[in-house]
Order: sequence, then structure tokens, then C-alpha cells
Amino acid sequence: MGNAKDDKPGKMLTSMREAGSAIVVTGAGGGIGSGLVRRLIGDGWRVLAVDLNRDGLAKLQSERSVGARLDVFTLDVSRPGDVERTARQIDDQGIAVAGLVNAAGILQDVVPFMSLDIERQRQIWDVNYFGAFYCTKWFGNLMIKNGGGSIVNITSINELRVLPLHAYGPTKVAMGSLTTLTAGEFGAKSVRVNSVAPGFTLTPAMQEKIDSGKRDVSALKRATAMRRLVEIDEVASVVSFLMSDESSAVTGVSIPVDAGWLTTSHWMNFGDLLATGSEEKPGS
Ligand code: NAP
Repeated sequence: MGNAKDDKPGKMLTSMREAGSAIVVTGAGGGIGSGLVRRLIGDGWRVLAVDLNRDGLAKLQSERSVGARLDVFTLDVSRPGDVERTARQIDDQGIAVAGLVNAAGILQDVVPFMSLDIERQRQIWDVNYFGAFYCTKWFGNLMIKNGGGSIVNITSINELRVLPLHAYGPTKVAMGSLTTLTAGEFGAKSVRVNSVAPGFTLTPAMQEKIDSGKRDVSALKRATAMRRLVEIDEVASVVSFLMSDESSAVTGVSIPVDAGWLTTSHWMNFGDLLATGSEEKPGS
């Protein structure tokens, strides 16, 4: 694991990466998760990719660019015993864990409150919140043991603004609380914890919602400062920053990556200010 314990607190990721330590990415078979895996491997990290979706993991494994630095684990993050077993297995293999990205999640359709299916609500909580909680407990424990690390919770603009996604939204608010609580507790152990809060991001899962009319892409663009959706690699580059010593004093914060949706989405109440330039793509 190298000389991580000798490094300045919070500034050990470069030496851990060079010593072959790994980052665990959950939801790695999905749109954002796969993009994160590609980016972190490109940064020189070994990546342990976790997902329930075997096809998504197999697709990643088939990519030449990920090479030998990828290991995959088919794991249901909502099952605490399985998460604990996988963490022990990784530790027993002598792999030092330096980072965790909690990206596994279930997106939600808009349903009136009175029509919500209780089992579906529980399932969303089990994966989005408790999955992140269990992974933080077991993989965070390995980071503390290894001398430090970085945890990134992929939340959403739902962490920062109430939207009509009755289960999904509160799970993301709770993940934000998990971020600040664990950042406060783990800081003395050189483990930093932050949230990345993506706006509407062009993943296959989001594209499916757009194609089926569940999200109005023209309205989303009109409501966004930069008049466009977010690309997966724009989320990945912020995670890459948080998984580096460039962010060595950044902990306990939530960073929106939303092309300015939080800034301007409520401006619609003030007439035509946002009407111009909605088809252009400034800033790219
Ligand atoms: P996605 O493609 O559906 O990715 C989510 C991945 O998590 C899928 O591969 C899914 O597998 C996996 N997963 C679901 N339940 C799991 C479980 N119990 N254990 C392990 N893996 C599980 O969606 P995405 O758009 O990339 O979203 C990724 C993350 O970003 C989510 O946390 C989401 O809330 C967040 N986010 C997305 C957007 C957006 O606009 N796309 C915006 C803000 C935040 P299956 O395919 O088998 O379900």
C-alpha cells in the first residue's frame, strides 16, 4: 500500500494510486457508473466495479481501454451481508481500497403521492440510501485501515431542490446527510467524503425516460442556464478531481454538476428571459 500513512493527512491518494490501491465504483454497469470507471482507469487507478447488472459489467470488461486494471463484482448493494462479504474478500486478496463511489441507484417515475407503491418506495430506499450506507460502512472501514481515502456519493439535484420524485428525492437528501455526517467523523482518519449532485445527465436510463415522454427535454434545456443537459464525462471529471490530491482539503460538500439548472430553473416565473438561445450549447 506504499507510504500512505506517512503522507500529509488528506493528501495520500497519489501515493496510494501508484502503489496499486483501488477504487470501488458501485452502479458501474450503468450509464454514469461506466463513465466513472473509464475515467478513473484513465487516471491510472485500479477499479473494482460493482453492479447487479451483469451485462453492463461484461460490456465494460470487453473494452480494450480498461485493460487489466478492472475487476468486476456482481453484488446487490442493498444486501448488507453480501457487501460485508465482498469487502472481506477484497481485503483478504490484499487489495488496498483507497476510494468508493456510490453510484448504484434506481431512478423513479413521477407518480402522484396517493398512488405510490409502498414496496417500490422501500426498494428505492434500500438501493439508493442503504446501499450507499452499507458500502460506506464496509469499504470506508478498509480505507480507515489503509490510512485514508476518498468517498463520493452520487446524489442528484434532488438533494438540493425538492422535485416530485417522492422516494428518489428523499433518498438523495439522506445521502447528502450521510456525506456530511461521515465527512465529520472520518476526517481525522484522512477519509474525505463528498457528494456530486448531477443534473439531468444524458445516460441510456435518462434517454429512455426522454423517449417515453417521462422527461421533457426541451423544457429541461430551456430551464437550464447553459441550455443543455449534462454529459456523463462532465460528472466523471468532477469525481476524478475528488479522487485526487487536487481536492485534498475538500470534504463534506456537495458539488452540483447541472449545467446551471439549480440556478435558473425557477426563472420561468419571470417571463421570457430564458427563451433565447435554447438550441445553442454554450460553454462546451
Ligand atoms: P443507470 O444506468 O440505471 O445506473 C444505475 C446502475 O445501478 C445500474 O447498472 C443498475 O443496475 C445498478 N443497480 C441498481 N440496483 C442495484 C443494486 N441493488 N446493487 C447494485 N447495483 C444496482 O442510471 P444512471 O443514469 O447512470 O444513474 C447513476 C446514478 O446517478 C444513480 O445513483 C442516479 O440516481 C444518479 N443520477 C443520475 C442522473 C441522470 O440524469 N441520469 C441525474 C442525477 C443523479 P440495473 O440496470 O440492473 O438496474
